Amino acid sequence: MAIFFNEEFYGHIQDPFHPESPERLRGIVQKLKAHDLWKDVHSSKTGRKEHLKLVHEENYINFIETCGECSLTMDTRVHHETYGIAALSAECAIDAVMFSKEHGKPAFALTRPPGHHSGPNYGMGFCYFNNIAIAAKYLQGHGDRRIAVVDMDVHHGNGTEQIFAADPTVLYISTHQTGIFPGTGSLDFIGKGDGQGFNLNMPLASGCGDSTFDLAYRSLTLPVLEQFDPDALLVSIGVDNHYRDPLASLSLSSDGHLRQAKELLAFANAKCDGRTTFMLEGGYDIPALSEVVAGVVGAMESVEIPLEFTDIVDNSCLGRGTVERCMRNASEYWDL
Ligand SMILES: [Zn+2]
Repeated sequence: MAIFFNEEFYGHIQDPFHPESPERLRGIVQKLKAHDLWKDVHSSKTGRKEHLKLVHEENYINFIETCGECSLTMDTRVHHETYGIAALSAECAIDAVMFSKEHGKPAFALTRPPGHHSGPNYGMGFCYFNNIAIAAKYLQGHGDRRIAVVDMDVHHGNGTEQIFAADPTVLYISTHQTGIFPGTGSLDFIGKGDGQGFNLNMPLASGCGDSTFDLAYRSLTLPVLEQFDPDALLVSIGVDNHYRDPLASLSLSSDGHLRQAKELLAFANAKCDGRTTFMLEGGYDIPALSEVVAGVVGAMESVEIPLEFTDIVDNSCLGRGTVERCMRNASEYWDL
């Protein structure tokens, strides 16, 4: 496996007290080094506008590049350096998926800023350019046809959903907490036009955690992935679904998180020639974020690391009703 990371990502600071801080990456890098997993680290060259244009409107890209100091939303500020770093984050995603394609191995892109809330002509929720969507489109421009995106972040990836809503060649499956930012991701939205059936949302209630995610992956995510038969699997990994996260209230443990990640890695090994790329989205409790990312990188290397945050909060499958309703909707399109 390989890690994709640029030192420049530390230079993205919205304001000194913003939760999406460079300390998140510092914590991850420190943890990876502590477990001797900071190896085969690749850096990307300058971000390229033609790659951003695979997903974003030119006016929007130019606005981010030239506005200087401005705010997209209350929590998503643009500074002079933002364009360069956000474009580099997208390039990091592209380089990671291309490594995975060329070598048939997993990759982990430590993308920062994150991307899944950014749509064709907007940024929000700490995101400017949609890294995972850009990488998916780039792969499709380089010989791949079907790409699966699994979004584990606690927030719904509204940008990714919108970009691919009518596209049957990109499957989007999201588990997220209902009733919080950004407010999208309803159970009943399954895509539109030709894309119907290729967008699956599981909006989970506060408290849902390990047993709910086990059911969701076993009963829905993995069977649909199997039938979709993607050329590559891309994962929006957010660790803000962890019980320690300060911004949301799902209750996945580090163990639970790793179990889902390992299922996805095993699927990609069996069905996608080993082609899976994890890309960092959210996660704001730095110790939990660091141990989960290190656990996933370790799993890619077949190395187990000791986990500290293993409390099981949800052992009674609090989200069973939501997962079953999603399965009913999805069963119009998939054999479940
Ligand atoms: Zn998030």
